Amino acid sequence: MSQFGFPVKAPDPRDKLVILATFATEQEKREAIRRNAVGWPHIRPNCTMVAPIGNHWAPGAWQCVVDMVQYTNSQGVACWLMEIQDRNFNPFDAMGVMRNEACLVAQSAGFEWLLMVDNDVRPNPDTLLRLLAWDMPIVAPYVEEPCTECPQCKREPFRARENNVDVWRCVCGWNQPVIKLHGPHCDLNTGLRPIRWSVLSMLLFRTVLFNCFPGGTMWADPMGADEGFHFKRLWWYGHRPYLDTNIQLSVWSKPHYPLATNRMSWEDRQAFWKAKIEKLQQPPDRRPINPNVPGVVEGEYMPFLPQVARNGHESLAGVALGPAINAGKLELR
Ligand SMILES: [Zn+2]
Repeated sequence: MSQFGFPVKAPDPRDKLVILATFATEQEKREAIRRNAVGWPHIRPNCTMVAPIGNHWAPGAWQCVVDMVQYTNSQGVACWLMEIQDRNFNPFDAMGVMRNEACLVAQSAGFEWLLMVDNDVRPNPDTLLRLLAWDMPIVAPYVEEPCTECPQCKREPFRARENNVDVWRCVCGWNQPVIKLHGPHCDLNTGLRPIRWSVLSMLLFRTVLFNCFPGGTMWADPMGADEGFHFKRLWWYGHRPYLDTNIQLSVWSKPHYPLATNRMSWEDRQAFWKAKIEKLQQPPDRRPINPNVPGVVEGEYMPFLPQVARNGHESLAGVALGPAINAGKLELR
């Protein structure tokens, strides 16, 4: 436990005010001191709820997200993982409900930040801490449409920069421009940039922003309401997303736009929905990237479970926060 007193300077001693605050970690205390000059207090500065929208994990994505949560905790910043239940009746038709649920839960649980993640992202351990460091209301990492296979020769393409344009190129000669999933297009590694829209793969929100949308009303029906609609809605309240071009986020699959199926033939459209429904009926893929990594329980990557059992808190099984925080920076006296 770490205490810090905030003496508020005042020219007249009668106006002097004091805040005596207590923090769980040294990192929280440092952030509170920094913020005392440029912001307002929070009981657990930077505490973040990571909300995967659904649990239909693409290969490796579960481990990457869990490792990011655990690493964030290890650095003294409280971070929870709370999967949002798949509430779709047909594919995509309740994605807005699920995102709204994430907003509601994060704010009512008292988190300062909400990180929404899709089930196909593969962040680095420090991705969340780097996004938090900007201290901005809405921040997205840099996402490009993935290209894992050359359509000509089936080999793995590589990314190149030619005539100031980013391209996917293959040794067989095939190439095509990289599709960047934000607008307007920004180059990599050019810092924090204001943008109009970004793909929703990963978004960091300061939760007080949801006060603009009482009762979980930020996200509308996603069948027709896409990124463009939602970012226009945020703009109505004076907010735009910012793009962290220094963090390139790897995603497993191309984004799905339900309205795009309107342009398919009837047969292709039926095949698309059939494949989607069959995929959603599979159990969550929580397998580790490397099967020999520690923390695998019955084939699933659960590095927090053995520690929970050791601490005698079996009822907390599945809750990652307790052991990570207590094993890390918390000094309870
Ligand atoms: Zn090729």
